[in-house]
Amino acid sequence: MTLLTKRLISQVEKSGALSIAEYMTICLLDPKHGYYTRQQPFGSSGDFVTAPEVSQMFGELLGLALAQSWLDQGAPAPFILAELGPGRGTLMSDVLRATKSVSGFQEAADIWLVEASPALQDTQRAHLAEHHPNLHWADSLDAVPDGPLFLIANEFFDCMPIRQYRRTELGWQEQMITAKDGALGFMLGRPLPDQAVPDRARKLAPGSMIETSAASAAVAEDIARRIGRSAGAAIIVDYGDWDSSSDTLQAVKAHKKVGALDHPGRSDLTAHVSFSELANAALPFAAVSELTDQASLLAALGIVHRAQALAVEMDQSQEEKHVAAFQRLTDADQMGQLFKAISIFPQHGMPPPGFTHDTRDPDL
Ligand code: SAH
Repeated sequence: MTLLTKRLISQVEKSGALSIAEYMTICLLDPKHGYYTRQQPFGSSGDFVTAPEVSQMFGELLGLALAQSWLDQGAPAPFILAELGPGRGTLMSDVLRATKSVSGFQEAADIWLVEASPALQDTQRAHLAEHHPNLHWADSLDAVPDGPLFLIANEFFDCMPIRQYRRTELGWQEQMITAKDGALGFMLGRPLPDQAVPDRARKLAPGSMIETSAASAAVAEDIARRIGRSAGAAIIVDYGDWDSSSDTLQAVKAHKKVGALDHPGRSDLTAHVSFSELANAALPFAAVSELTDQASLLAALGIVHRAQALAVEMDQSQEEKHVAAFQRLTDADQMGQLFKAISIFPQHGMPPPGFTHDTRDPDL
């Protein structure tokens, strides 16, 4: 049993059951034992592989989409180029390489990397220092100064803490984590009044589960307020859907799914992103694009041309890997459809390339 498991059990015995959100926050970001604070989870030797780690094309195309949006908005200077949850810094380094040729873009950029893990901040520093003189780190978006904001977030919102509510015969009950016979286990809390769950949950049948992430909504609102006040655009890519009504909490260790309570602090813990929750939080302050999927977005941004251009210089074995990476990013049964993307941009403005303006009411 890990030290963190022991600590969680004694905490529950002393202070009562934990919400899933409290459990996720401790497991992912505890200063000593948290998953992101104590290890490097990325890559084939780690626990999971993200799109920027699959191919440089992902960051290049998203970076150019942001730079085009900056040009479309009159090239505001100075501006903030931010990334949420930059992992090893690979995405930002691809963005910086690809946008070098966009005149004035990098000179006007103050780059902010929002990263809660001090260990990963160090990794990002080592990776990015050579690319740009003007790099800053913050452990939350609150600490980033105001101003025109061009922001990118890949697989950030999936690690934001969620709460889960299940509809039972008794009404809505929150899924909690408790300790029994020296082990962590799930339990349902007391029945709650209907107002405790979001409106979108009301029509769901018994047995359904709804997940909410107040932390995700707060970040989406902050992004939209900044973009609404100044200028900017955000591109958010993650796995999930417009809405979900099932249990999507998942733990991954060494590329395999494991039980969410089995390896606290030693497995990645995520949930599918409910994009309607982000859109609802953003819409009072900015416009939101239609939800698209990773394959459609990358196709619209010209991934086929970019892949062909890169292949010209490759030998056969490099080309085989390159084709496999292309397929991994875009095939429907790999990342192409599971991963979705949305953009936040100024009201009455134009979305970044690859996105279309959503004029629907998100509650319909
Ligand atoms: N975007 C990267 C890494 C994704 S993993 C990629 O695509 O490869 C999630 C990242 O978010 C990690 O860097 C993790 O440390 C960071 N993170 C998780 N929770 C966070 C929080 N609450 N605030 C800031 N960063 C967080």
